[in-house]
Amino acid sequence: FMQSAVAAGTVVQRPDYMIRAGTNENPWGPSRVALKAINGAIDLSNQYGGITDEMLALMSSLENVAADHIAIGTGSGEILKTAGMIASMQSGSVVCADPTYQDLVRYAGRAGSQIIRVPVDEGLNIDLEAMAKAIRRDTRLVYIVNPNNPIPSIIEKDRLKSFVETISKDRLVFVDEAYHEFVDNPEYGSMMELVRKGNRNLVVARTASKIHGLAGLRIGFAYAHPELITEINERKTGQINILGIKAAYASYQDEEFQNFTIRKNKESLAIVEGMFEELGLCYVKSNANFSFFETGIPVEELNARLREEGIYSGRPFPPFLNWSRISMAKPEEMRYYVQTYKRLFG
Ligand code: PLP
Repeated sequence: FMQSAVAAGTVVQRPDYMIRAGTNENPWGPSRVALKAINGAIDLSNQYGGITDEMLALMSSLENVAADHIAIGTGSGEILKTAGMIASMQSGSVVCADPTYQDLVRYAGRAGSQIIRVPVDEGLNIDLEAMAKAIRRDTRLVYIVNPNNPIPSIIEKDRLKSFVETISKDRLVFVDEAYHEFVDNPEYGSMMELVRKGNRNLVVARTASKIHGLAGLRIGFAYAHPELITEINERKTGQINILGIKAAYASYQDEEFQNFTIRKNKESLAIVEGMFEELGLCYVKSNANFSFFETGIPVEELNARLREEGIYSGRPFPPFLNWSRISMAKPEEMRYYVQTYKRLFG
């Protein structure tokens, strides 16, 4: 891309590859430090597992929680599915927001749990009061995604904290913080604080897939009381791979790359949210690495048009079928996206 040409208001060239803006990945890939670790570990690919204890020790010191409060999964997806399985084994219902990330609830639903979906409120925020009301006697697990996905909203810290403290007296609360590192909002707070305080019925999940750009190598974490961690570890079905854990071990120590990703993500968001403002489109201010906005166009049709122009955009999220989730690719790629969107639909 020609930065100067863009600044001058001329056309941004279409890149000769598809822009991946559909799946909330890190467009910068793994960090150089992680790539070095991966290269150094390729020879060890004959080995099972590897450096689990070192990884637990690192996360323990970074998150200020004892190592027996941490489980490692093949992505946080494995942690989510394991919790979904635990809930369904006790043949209980699961309460979640709608829309929200589906991995846990879909898995629990297929295993026999009834899923109680609670629509987001008029401001498209997770409706904690309605969720509390929706809880039944048989509810085993309440799933909260914060920041949410596909709607990149957050729940105010003190409200979420008191919700978790109340609800977790009788049942499991699962707080999925996959986008935690991207949040720059004084109203936000991680629920890790309650794990540190010894809450016995709370799982906080994090992932190396997003800020660390390691989605393909499948490393994620659960933080919870040691008894819950043991239960999760006993039910998990995956095996950590040596490349993933070596890469994550290096990347979590690479603050420079995390800060770089956060900075670039903000640049991309400013480009895209600038277009929403310019075109007067309804959107939710992002607390993550994606945006959600009302296009007024059926999302399948929108996506087909964008694909022809070299852009993958997010899948449909019913019931918001005239809305689109666009993941932040690199700033120059988002300039091309904005130019294309305006030309087609502006
Ligand atoms: N949780 C949320 C809210 C997500 O959006 C995603 C991925 O998109 C995940 C969890 C799963 O990530 P992974 O299994 O790669 O850790």
